[in-house]
Amino acid sequence: MTTAKSIDELKPDDRVLSCKYIEMGSCFEPGGVHCCIQGSVRSPLIITADEIRNGQVSHDLVVQRRRALFTALNGLSVGPTDPCRTCANLKPKKYRDVSFEYLGGESLSAGLNIQHYTDCNQRCKYCLWTVEDYFVKPQYDPLEYLEVFRKKGKLRGNNWIDFSGGEPSMLKNFGALLGYLLDNNMGTVVVYSNSVIFSQSIYDALKRNKIILTTSLDAGTPATYKKVRAMNAWPTVIRNLIRYRNSGTKGLWLKYIITDDNRTDDDLWGFALAMLAIRPDKIQICPDFPYGERQLPDETVQFAAKLFHILERLTGMRPVDYTTDFGDPKWVKYHEDLKKAIQELEKRNPYGDFETFQKLKPASSMRNLANGLRRSVDRFWDSDFRKKLLPPESTSAKWATIAYRRTVGRFV
Ligand code: SF4
Ligand code: SF4
Repeated sequence: MTTAKSIDELKPDDRVLSCKYIEMGSCFEPGGVHCCIQGSVRSPLIITADEIRNGQVSHDLVVQRRRALFTALNGLSVGPTDPCRTCANLKPKKYRDVSFEYLGGESLSAGLNIQHYTDCNQRCKYCLWTVEDYFVKPQYDPLEYLEVFRKKGKLRGNNWIDFSGGEPSMLKNFGALLGYLLDNNMGTVVVYSNSVIFSQSIYDALKRNKIILTTSLDAGTPATYKKVRAMNAWPTVIRNLIRYRNSGTKGLWLKYIITDDNRTDDDLWGFALAMLAIRPDKIQICPDFPYGERQLPDETVQFAAKLFHILERLTGMRPVDYTTDFGDPKWVKYHEDLKKAIQELEKRNPYGDFETFQKLKPASSMRNLANGLRRSVDRFWDSDFRKKLLPPESTSAKWATIAYRRTVGRFV
């Protein structure tokens, strides 16, 4: 590594330690902006919420703060370096290739997160904000920070943007924030919404295939949904998901987080049938993140295996393991145990053959036509126009009813 004593002594060919997140990442959370937020791990704060609120953020200031972290990590100054010091993403490179000028430019997982608030309409049992009872309104406007880069021509696209929180659809300026990310072609935007509130902004962006919507359902029955997410909202969420599905999007992702409360057969089958009906573009399965020393219970592994087995057979869709990239030993063990449990189920095939379900066909076009006709007739019959034309209880109404039943009504 370099023998320079200060950043001014660094030569272009000197080998230094740097990280793409320090150079271009910007993750917004209530306290301010970090270079990265990976679960409960986050880099030192670069810009505070106060500095954004007070209009003190400039491009020079962000570059200066990133550089300060970089020089401390390279032993050229003194300052906080945890957790970067021991992070695998800190890699040697030539100083000439280091730049702190830009915001974004590469699809880095957890490198551009919008979560400057935690306010939410639910209280999911597994959510860290619920556990810590930490629900706060937006602490500042991320657009003020993004604008600093845009005005300098230093805002780049091709990012992976996680827009979470909290519940994003509750933000007063949600449409403006989402619109900004899309209008500036900042990259793939993944919106994490519980879908209790139907958002026209989400629908419109889904329709244009501009975003991915991820909703965690975590249940197969209304009772379990209420137990896990502390809200009696299963029918509302299903209704909104169907509306989002009908946008024609290719970006509807649904998730099942397995907890101690939702590992029943009723939930398994209820969820599988809901997936058969909604047909999401991706199904993600993820055990509740165990914090501290807690190990993943065997019941969770067995339930996850059943979900993988049944969903694939019933819907023809292969679910995705949300934890594939997690490298902690307990996750490695989970991946091995899960693989074995799925193989064992495949060998035993306890639920038989679902071929007929996979070949489930939509209703025939004649049936659809008949259903449409019946809906039109029902609408006409309930209309004020019909009531004027054929007043209820009148002889003409009775004759019209008999005529309908003996003709069109026999077929629809
Ligand atoms: S070194 Fe690791 S912890 Fe630090 S900013 Fe990079 S990815 Fe984040
Ligand atoms: S919807 Fe999301 S943010 Fe809200 S409580 Fe549940 S997990 Fe937490």
